[in-house]
Amino acid sequence: MGRTWLGHTVLLIFVIGPLLATAYAMYTLWARMIGWTELSLFFALYLLTGMGITIGYHRMLTHRSFESSNVVRAIFLMLGSMAVQGKAIDWAANHLKHHAHADEEGDPHSPLEGFFHAHVGWLFTAPPADRERYAKRLMQDPLISFFDRTFLLWVLVGLVIHRGHPPARSRRVH
Ligand SMILES: [Zn+2]
Repeated sequence: MGRTWLGHTVLLIFVIGPLLATAYAMYTLWARMIGWTELSLFFALYLLTGMGITIGYHRMLTHRSFESSNVVRAIFLMLGSMAVQGKAIDWAANHLKHHAHADEEGDPHSPLEGFFHAHVGWLFTAPPADRERYAKRLMQDPLISFFDRTFLLWVLVGLVIHRGHPPARSRRVH
């Protein structure tokens, strides 16, 4: 009972709150500070960082579904970092642990502990997966460990790009 109450509070504050706040800010600042440029940037970066996670972090790092040149790997690692879901090796270690114990004891986001836990709650309660145990192969890759170490830098770069250009005060308001 306590967990459900806590879970819903966390969901509201940390997951739904920022979403609603962003929508509200876009609504109130529309045409003054937010225009089509910002909106296009928002969707383009949403797609790109999403691909950084699903293609880069997930398929490329975790499942080794494809091999690629260092340039392509670097681009996916950079985009994945910009999604702010954590360092590349931590993310992959968590996901490898999930596959190793899918839906049983030890799965960091098992649906057996409830829908909420499986999707959001685990982020706040599960201890990070052991990198040595689940992602040693990734730690030995110089390119991956470089992006893992410089994670915060890419988060910062992502934020700067999202910021777009300074708002043009003279821009006409329609
Ligand atoms: Zn997977």
